[in-house]
Amino acid sequence: MIIFVLAVLGLCLGSFVNALVWRIHKNKDWVKSRSQCVHCGHELSAKDLIPIFSWLMLKGRCRYCQKPISKQYPLVELIMATVFILSYLLWPTSFNEPGQWILFVSWLAASVGLLALAVYDWRWLLLPNKLVYPTFLVAAAGRVVYIAGYEPDKWLALLNLLGAVAVASGIFFLIYSLSDKYIGGGDVSLGLVTGTLLAIPINSLLMIFFASILGLLFALPGLVSKNKKLTTKIPYGPFLIAATFIVLLFGQGITDWYEQLLT
Ligand SMILES: [Zn+2]
Repeated sequence: MIIFVLAVLGLCLGSFVNALVWRIHKNKDWVKSRSQCVHCGHELSAKDLIPIFSWLMLKGRCRYCQKPISKQYPLVELIMATVFILSYLLWPTSFNEPGQWILFVSWLAASVGLLALAVYDWRWLLLPNKLVYPTFLVAAAGRVVYIAGYEPDKWLALLNLLGAVAVASGIFFLIYSLSDKYIGGGDVSLGLVTGTLLAIPINSLLMIFFASILGLLFALPGLVSKNKKLTTKIPYGPFLIAATFIVLLFGQGITDWYEQLLT
């Protein structure tokens, strides 16, 4: 039952993410304005806005002008639903502890902001603060409530949290200040979010490690075939965000496995 609820919620919020990035890009008021076709500007009705199904029914074309609707729309909806379901299935701690629900719900809320950031960075190579700050607030609220209410060693948890943020954000701050804008300032502020979600410094390190591997895997084919040069800008945000997801759900398993290797 809960899986079904999470799937539906994920699809709907994925649809919200699509609308959100578009409106922020167009600088529109996302509360008041209604969804419209990006080609013909026709206002979309409820039947055009059902996640996945509308896109499939219309065979990926606008009902009014027949121009193609980007695959981004159903894809983002599917990704959001998948993130929601996997987060529940793979959540590293038992839900019997009441505090875990606080972390879980704040993670789900933050993951909506993170997906919007990933899509935005992918399309326009930018992590807008309009998205970063609210996502940070959601993540921080969950973490602070959890530490205050459920963490046995509050000071240690707080210290770990600061360390996690310092690592996730600090490394990019150094690269940002030392290199000539090799990465965007958005990666620095994104570190506030990912660090808060990951909560301990080792997780932040793991996250940056995985993000680098993912980014490299993505860039490699282009570099090999010489379509892209090393200076070609690639968005780093989506990889940082994907890596945060990986470390949050598999981090404990990965460190356990690594420690096993050493002993
Ligand atoms: Zn249209």
